[in-house]
Amino acid sequence: MDFSSKLLENAVNEVSRLPGIGKRTALRLVLHLLKQPSENTGYLTEALQNLRNDVKSCQKCHNISDTILCDICNNPSRNEEIVCVVEDIRDVMAIESTAQFKGLYHVLGGKISPIEGIGPQDLQIESLVEKVKSGEVKELIFALSSTMEGDTTNFYIFKQIENFEVITSTIARGISVGDELEYADEITLGRSIVNRIPFEQSLKS
Ligand SMILES: [Zn+2]
Repeated sequence: MDFSSKLLENAVNEVSRLPGIGKRTALRLVLHLLKQPSENTGYLTEALQNLRNDVKSCQKCHNISDTILCDICNNPSRNEEIVCVVEDIRDVMAIESTAQFKGLYHVLGGKISPIEGIGPQDLQIESLVEKVKSGEVKELIFALSSTMEGDTTNFYIFKQIENFEVITSTIARGISVGDELEYADEITLGRSIVNRIPFEQSLKS
């Protein structure tokens, strides 16, 4: 791409670093911003800056939060004894939208993936195992996507906690939990949470 302006080129380069955004799309977005009143760009950069500066990770579930404890962990009507293990905030949002789950979450921050160099130590696994060991959690629901990385992660965690007093279950598969949990429709996802199956049973099938 031949740019007549270095300023334009820099902006396009930065935007095109975002996943799924090629140079052409980046150029379109930047040109769009240029046509808008300049304060719109200000709102955008301010929102991103504020997010970076002020966002927190919930001390209890590690979800993205504005406060030390997120709204879910802070809600006294949620059942602290049931913890749903998910990869990231998108899963929390998907499950919350079903209104079928009244427990808490534990956000791992990813899945074990040797190819991408992500090991158990890179994820929030130790703190999850601690929760189980301390006896505060009575049931763990594995809700990672049913990919090889998801299965590996589930199994790794299961092995760490299998000797403790905790029920492990997994959200029913084979319905339509596709590759990513976030894409399952609300009714299907809600149903699979209600009809969750014992984790060991999922290993045999
Ligand atoms: Zn939380």
